[in-house]
Amino acid sequence: MDQRTHAWIAIRAIALLEDGGESKDLVKLIKPHAAKAAIGAWIPDLGDAKRAGSQIGKHVLKMKPYKGKVLKERFIAEKEDLLERLGKSRLMSSYIENDTSLKSHWWNKPYKGDIKTPGQHLANRAMAMSVMMRDLLIMGDQKVDKLLPGAVRFAKNIDIKARTKAEQVALYFFMLSHFISDACMPCHTDARKISAYNNGKGLHHELESRWSNIVKTKFDKKKLLPASLSIKPDKILKDAKEVDTRFDLKFKPKSIPNLVAGDVWLELINICRGSFAVASIIASPKPSKYPYSDKVRIVHLDKLFPENSSEKLKDLDRMVMHDAVLNNAIIWRHIWQQAIPAKMKKKKKKTA
Ligand SMILES: [Zn+2]
Repeated sequence: MDQRTHAWIAIRAIALLEDGGESKDLVKLIKPHAAKAAIGAWIPDLGDAKRAGSQIGKHVLKMKPYKGKVLKERFIAEKEDLLERLGKSRLMSSYIENDTSLKSHWWNKPYKGDIKTPGQHLANRAMAMSVMMRDLLIMGDQKVDKLLPGAVRFAKNIDIKARTKAEQVALYFFMLSHFISDACMPCHTDARKISAYNNGKGLHHELESRWSNIVKTKFDKKKLLPASLSIKPDKILKDAKEVDTRFDLKFKPKSIPNLVAGDVWLELINICRGSFAVASIIASPKPSKYPYSDKVRIVHLDKLFPENSSEKLKDLDRMVMHDAVLNNAIIWRHIWQQAIPAKMKKKKKKTA
């Protein structure tokens, strides 16, 4: 996903939480800073943010068949099992459920992330940021503290300058959104060469450009950055919601589920696993087509979706964008809930 798509997804997630009406304090905290914080959504893709690390190591969890014997069962997620782990609210679930191309012999094989350095993948990054966010919220300044239910008695002993500001909370939530959104991009979870960025040639780049063209220019950095002080929060959320019709998105703000896995790391792993299944649905790994052996190294979007299948491509667009926005709302709210003392939490239904 490119800069403008990342910015749009994160801003749209605030609007979803606002419409849900349950996360009023969280919305009150981040919404006023939406335009200013938007840069957070694309910072992880900028050169300086990748210093001293691999170029893409923390943005992807690219899976491929696992040939090892150790913990083999751990890397198998059969279809029914994965659908349960994804819950019913994600469109990814129905997309996978309705697919008939991946048969049981695909589903009952182990697949594992092709990770060069242990721990360098986006589920780890998202988990690390989520835990840190909870702590930063607890150490918030008076403004943050006022919105977060429950007293933090030690806060008064921290230098006021060292306490977290609302602007920082918003910026870090947006940064986290980058990794959550990347997990929804099928090419980020598929180790085949056809899903690589390939210097801007082929599937990965073509999908990103397609989504970027649908989002259009209102969330471009050249519009957000200089104008961020003058863009009214209500206006930016309204602009974000206007993109919905172009993706044919229909959100259900009143029924944003909780994490299904109960843990951000596992939730992201499950989302990545779902995205990997989606990548394998759109470009079949059958030996005669796009096998994991990389016999084919590049494929173009119009080969996978010829003109007569444009509706199928629109289904893919809708699913990825819907889930990217929803997943951000789910995980942001989860972090907020984590920072609230248990006895003050409102009761919610357990899963999706
Ligand atoms: Zn990225």
